[in-house]
Amino acid sequence: MMTGIERIRVVGAGTMGRGIAQVAATAGYLVEVTDADHRAVSAALEFVGDMVRRAVAKGRHTAEEADAILNRLRPGESPVAPGADIDLVIEAVVEDPAVKQSILRDLETATPTAILATNTSSLSVGVLASALADPARLVGLHFFNPVPLMRLVEVVPGLRTPPAVVDAAQEFVERIGHTAVLVRDTPGFLVNHVGRALPTEALALLGEQIATPSELDRIVRDVLGLRMGPFELLDLTGLDVSHPVMETVFAGFYGDPRLRPSPIAAARTAAGLLGRKTNEGFYRYDGSEREPEHRFAADPTATPVYVHDHPEFAARLRAAGVSVVDSPSPAAVSLVLPIGEPAYRLITRAGLDPARTLGIDPLGIERDRIPVIVPVTSDAEIAAPALNVLASAYSVSLTADGPAPAAQRILAAMVNLACAVAEQGIATPADIDRGTHLGLGYPLGPLEYGDTLGPSLIVRILDGVYDYTGDPRYRVTTWLRTRAEQGLSLRTTGTTPADLLRNRQSPG
Ligand code: NAD
Repeated sequence: MMTGIERIRVVGAGTMGRGIAQVAATAGYLVEVTDADHRAVSAALEFVGDMVRRAVAKGRHTAEEADAILNRLRPGESPVAPGADIDLVIEAVVEDPAVKQSILRDLETATPTAILATNTSSLSVGVLASALADPARLVGLHFFNPVPLMRLVEVVPGLRTPPAVVDAAQEFVERIGHTAVLVRDTPGFLVNHVGRALPTEALALLGEQIATPSELDRIVRDVLGLRMGPFELLDLTGLDVSHPVMETVFAGFYGDPRLRPSPIAAARTAAGLLGRKTNEGFYRYDGSEREPEHRFAADPTATPVYVHDHPEFAARLRAAGVSVVDSPSPAAVSLVLPIGEPAYRLITRAGLDPARTLGIDPLGIERDRIPVIVPVTSDAEIAAPALNVLASAYSVSLTADGPAPAAQRILAAMVNLACAVAEQGIATPADIDRGTHLGLGYPLGPLEYGDTLGPSLIVRILDGVYDYTGDPRYRVTTWLRTRAEQGLSLRTTGTTPADLLRNRQSPG
């Protein structure tokens, strides 16, 4: 099988196929575009022509370069026409295993020396390869939409794909200017697996009525620093796409509770509240005004406050002109900052008056937004003035009390799931962070994020929630606990048995 790739056939000229054809022709490959439907081929060539001409207008290509790119693209006769000179076929047809297997079988004889690649997003590469006489010829090349902008490709060998094919696939990805991450053939591959933590934990919090979708989105954006909140993201993708991904990844791992989907998403999908595409999801998109965030009037003097065991937070409040008293008093509202436990438990341990105490998520204190936790025992009338006080230093988000503060749960779920992926060798730590950053747009990879806050903090949150709820969703991965207990980075692979084998002394 040859690995020096020059000629490529793209099968399936839809959303993905046309993007793949565009980046491949731009990188200098000769590309045949094929589809079961001839109109899809002409539409794809027209689309790519427009995109390339637009790039000329923006100064990204010269007119000559654009001509050369478009000259490298041509309509193919049929997806399975004889193509003895084709080096790589990338199939991007409908996500139906029977259709994909039948095309791949035909391609096996039609393009006898080509590497066969599938752009499947949810099917097993090994299952697709099992239809081939020579399953070694198939590799997964999972692109993201839109292909020219999303510069990540998951390279997914099946169990029978040899290293030469994987190397050739990685070289191809690098030559088109994308980043290749090497991923084991497992449900959701890398990005769709790691990416389950944020929406499933956010939906769990919504299900427990900890906060509204918009409040949870603000907390994720402003406290955790993500560009989009989970509900905004679900609305953008559409629940018709996201909910089945949650279900297939969960089912693919035989019901691992860390991946548990939400009955809320199931019900909303069935009701057609899919998101932007149906004008209504967790938010409305019918032109009506989005309900503005409730702003509390800033008043540093509304009540004195006592801050339990957190001098930095007390200092920030004092700097905003708040009267922070040194001991609890019947004239002050007390504030506790729980980690990995409900606010009420810390209130009880500290011996504070539960009627006049609120919780604060300490993850927010260095940022501009503070999540305020309302314990069931607080007296609304007494506690409310503290919100005006806090508003003089922060934007205030209100949440109910739960097993741990909301942002802590979301963050810990993200880090722990990334650690589970590392533990199972689905991808290397570096590829997990690279893939998550490029594929999901998180500013930091989840392992780096865990390192920044400290692995032992993440363990403390998870252990607390697990002890409190008994829910195995929150069980700490060995990867995380080992590194936390030994003060190691979550990105260290450490010494493996294979390392000892490589270094062993030969007898004699
Ligand atoms: P699409 O519906 O836009 O395009 C699919 C194309 O395949 C259509 O043009 C259709 O005519 C053609 N086709 C269908 N059956 C065919 C056959 N038997 N032979 C030849 N062509 C056939 O779909 P898409 O969004 O481009 O998705 C294609 C693949 O890429 C799927 O496997 C999907 O899971 C995967 N994928 C999609 C995305 C995405 O965001 N859209 C992202 C990553 C991967």
